Amino acid sequence: MNKCPVCNHKLTKIINGTLQSQHKTSNGCKDILVENLSYTKCDYCNEIFFAPEESKNYELQLEKALEKERKCENLLTAKEIKLIRKKYDLTQAQLELLLKIGPKNVAKWETYKSNQSPTIDNLLRRMEEDYCFFLKMLNSVEVKDFQNVITKHSFYLEKISIIELISKLYPEVNIKNLSKEFVEYVDKVIKELILATVKKQKSQLILKEAV
Ligand SMILES: [Zn+2]
Repeated sequence: MNKCPVCNHKLTKIINGTLQSQHKTSNGCKDILVENLSYTKCDYCNEIFFAPEESKNYELQLEKALEKERKCENLLTAKEIKLIRKKYDLTQAQLELLLKIGPKNVAKWETYKSNQSPTIDNLLRRMEEDYCFFLKMLNSVEVKDFQNVITKHSFYLEKISIIELISKLYPEVNIKNLSKEFVEYVDKVIKELILATVKKQKSQLILKEAV
């Protein structure tokens, strides 16, 4: 392409150019600067043309610009949200149910069609860092929608009270790094302790009645 298909004037090749792009989100329109672009520009009518490879690069650079913007707003990027979701083997729909929000939201955050609210962002971060918090969220949903996830975490879900106790006493401990044997052991010791206390209280009661 040597001449502009619109006005038939001369075209100039631009390398390493920057373009302003209007990005539509459900929170409104935003002007985004997209850098590192190559394209062809008409000297006369300013029309811009992308070759297929350049158009691919545009998509990539646009994503980078949107990523940068999310980071500036202290929000998780699309990739980071996807990683958290994949970490727990959740589908987009399951994550929506877990967060108690409407359908199609996660898909929008993962493609920059909209940004998650700071409240949701905090929930996602906490879910990522705090396994116990994730288990509690999982405990509050309909089993039928989460069969695969529940099966995967069933051991820890059954021992949730013990896990909560350990994480309250030792917040620095990463629950996921504790062996199942260790959790079973703590569970057993605590149950024995409680049983012993109950026995002691009962015998004191009998003693009191006897006196
Ligand atoms: Zn032109």
